[in-house]
This record gives sequence, structure tokens and C-alpha cells, in this order.
Amino acid sequence: MALNFSDTEIAFKNKSNSSLTKATWLFKSFNYPFIVEKGPLIAVWALKWHLPFMRRLVRNTIFSQFCGGETVDESMKVVKELSTANIKSILDYSVEGEENEANFDATRNEILRTIAAAKTNKSIAFSVFKSTGIARIALLEKVDEVYRKALNEKKFLPLSELREVLTTDEFAEIERTYKRFTDLCDTAAAAQVRLFVDAEETWIQNTLDAWTEAMMLKHNKESAVIYNTIQMYRHDRITYTKRLLEIAQENSFYIGLKIVRGAYMEKERERAIAMNYPSPIHIDKESCDKDYDNVVHFCVLSDRISICAGTHNEESSLKLTQWMKEQNCTPSNARFFFAQLLGMSDNLSFNLAASGYEVAKYVPYGPVLSVLPYLARRAQENSSVKGQVGRELGLIKQEQQRRKKN
Ligand SMILES: Cc1cc2nc3c(=O)[nH]c(=O)nc-3n(C[C@H](O)[C@H](O)[C@H](O)COP(=O)(O)OP(=O)(O)OC[C@H]3O[C@@H](n4cnc5c(N)ncnc54)[C@H](O)[C@@H]3O)c2cc1C
Repeated sequence: MALNFSDTEIAFKNKSNSSLTKATWLFKSFNYPFIVEKGPLIAVWALKWHLPFMRRLVRNTIFSQFCGGETVDESMKVVKELSTANIKSILDYSVEGEENEANFDATRNEILRTIAAAKTNKSIAFSVFKSTGIARIALLEKVDEVYRKALNEKKFLPLSELREVLTTDEFAEIERTYKRFTDLCDTAAAAQVRLFVDAEETWIQNTLDAWTEAMMLKHNKESAVIYNTIQMYRHDRITYTKRLLEIAQENSFYIGLKIVRGAYMEKERERAIAMNYPSPIHIDKESCDKDYDNVVHFCVLSDRISICAGTHNEESSLKLTQWMKEQNCTPSNARFFFAQLLGMSDNLSFNLAASGYEVAKYVPYGPVLSVLPYLARRAQENSSVKGQVGRELGLIKQEQQRRKKN
């Protein structure tokens, strides 16, 4: 079937008329700054005071648009629905709690549950985790410079080398943190479940790159199981990818890469100004787009690299399909995945899947109160990303009109 991202009949085939109307109201509400900025604060306050109407309101609106449920089991309904359109799922535990060891262990245990679910369900394509859910950010930051140097020198650094920059207590803490990180990777690899390590802010990313590369070296001997994430709004990521390919060739392992544009642009720029260092972010969207497409093309050309294009950008997604064709790769070639977030850009996900491409949706889940920060970010993104709300609303309207005519 020819690929057409404007085919709304396919894009919304899982959506009833009433859920399209609900989505219209929701996306329209993101145009009101008061709702986007104050809504999450009011919701947290009301939920903390156990006001049931607010819980119902959040669950039936923004939560049901962007989340699969409160638990793995509850989210399986969405996983099943998506699978009817040949779309796979990625269960994403989206809880952002306080930074303490009990929470970090609990998060690690929850991610292990998503790996167990993926092991027995072919409709779940990957597992994923945010390292900030299992690690204290300030601790990762403290060792980041050590890892930056090691990465530049193409060295796999043993943890013991961190003793020089950490106190005894901190070193014990980073050992526990690294154990949580490797537990997740080792368990995923043993279960043959592909695992994404999400990308974070630049000031902790060297640590995460180094740890993820060590896990790729260990587990990606025959194929890509452990995937790092690269953010192409950073101007150094093409160099990073080329360097990673050299290391993979020298050490005979496969590379898994989720390729995204990046979620923390404003924060990165503000910090660079405040701390007086050059911004790691491209100067404009055009340069970011160019690097995104260039790195995707670079990866398509190397059999050693498997990728997941984590993007809502139509042009970039289309380019990837063309480059796959040029390399005689069939749409179902397992080296290539497309991924979008639940509740966004269904026109890409459903139409790509209908044309035979491998597609997966992030299906975020967690207790309503605990996923509010995630939902607040979705609301902000949908009000600040140029044209995103307009795009979603335009497509929904087109489908509503099509249904009226039939
Ligand atoms: C499946 C999936 C997984 C993701 N995982 C991660 C992750 O692990 N880590 C993470 O950080 N993000 C992640 N994201 C979010 C992602 O980084 C983007 O924020 C989001 O997808 C929007 O980018 P786009 O390619 O979809 O769309 P577009 O609308 O084409 O691009 C918007 C993006 O372009 C960039 N941009 C916008 N303006 C400028 C500018 N002036 N200069 C430079 N760059 C600019 C920003 O990154 C912005 O988010 C993920 C997204 C998806 C769909």
C-alpha cells in the first residue's frame, strides 16, 4: 500500500466518534496558557487532597489520551488495540518520584515487570527506562566529566576509576546505581527483549553513554539488544555516532540507536548561558533537522546499526522509508523501527504500519498523580512545538468530516 500520512481513515480507525471529539477539546485546551501552566499544579493539589472529581477529570481527559493505564496489566488493553493495526507497544513507566534509594529500587523493579511482559508478548517490541528514575542526578553529574574524557579516548572505564572523584559513600552509591542499570540491561538481554536507554540532559549524558556502550559491548554480540538514544538537537551527535561505529567495529558489537531530536532544549540553552559555556544545542531548527536526517542516512548505510526513529516529523519519517528502499531493505526489516508517543501523530504510526513498516508506540503508564509531570510535558510540548496542535486538530477535523459524508 502506498504511504500516505494524510489518510485519516487509517490513522483514526481505532478511534470512535466520541473519542475524536474528546481529543479535539483536549488539543484545543492546550492553546490556553492558563490550562497548560496552572492545570497540573491544580491537579496535583486536588489529588493530594483526595478530591475524587479531579482524579476522574484527569483520568478521562489528558490521561486517557496519553497513557495506557495505571499498571502494566491495565495498559494491556491499549497494547492489544494497537496490535490490531500491526502497531507494537513500548511500555513506558512514566513515574517521576523523589530521589531516594527506595524509589530507585521500586522503579527498577517496575521496569523489570515491563521486561517480563515484553518477553511473553510479541506485541511489545521494546522495553525502555529513564536513568533518572534509578539514579540521583547530582551523582551522575559528578562523574560525567570523567566519562567524557574516557569516551573521547575510546576507553571503557572500570567503575573503580571513579574512586578518585567520589567520597567513600558516594562510591558505594554509584556501585548500587550501576547495579540497577546493569540489572535492567542483563535481564533484558537474557530475555531477548530489546531495551532503550532514554537520553537525558547533556550534563549527565556522558555517564549514560559510557554505561550504555559498556552494555552494548556485553550484550550486542549477535544483534542489537541494548539501544542508546541520541538527541540530534545537539551539534556533536554525528561525531558521536561515527565514533561509536568505530568502537563497535574495533570491538565487534552491534549498535542499537533510538534517534530523537531532543526534549530539553530550553533547559540546555538556559544553563549554558547561566554557566557561561557554549550551548550544546544547534542554533536553529533547520540545523537540527539536517543533522537528524544525516545521522539516519548514515545509520541506514551501516549493517552494524539498528535504529528506531523516535519522531513525529513526517518529512524525516518519509526520508527514512526512501533510504530503506534505496538499500533494498523491505519495510519489515527488523533493523528499522519507527516510534511515536501514544496519543500523538497517529497519522504516522497507523499509515506506516498499514504499509508494512515496523512501528511502535510508547505507552506511558503509572498512577495518575505520579504521571502528572509527564502529562504536563505533553501539554507543554503540544502548545510549544510549532504547528503540532494545528496538525493534530486538522487531521481530526478531516476525519470527522470524512465520517459525516459516509
Ligand atoms: C518514541 C519517542 C521517544 C523519545 N525519547 C526521547 C528521549 O529518550 N530523550 C529525549 O530527549 N527526547 C525523547 N523524545 C522526544 C523528542 O526528543 C522530541 O522532543 C519530540 O519528539 C519532538 O521532535 P520531533 O522529531 O518529533 O518533531 P519536530 O516537531 O520536527 O521537532 C521538534 C524538535 O526540534 C528541536 N528544535 C525545535 N526548535 C529548535 C531550534 N530552534 N533549534 C534547535 N532544535 C530545535 C527540538 O528538539 C524539538 O523538540 C522522544 C520522542 C519519541 C516520539
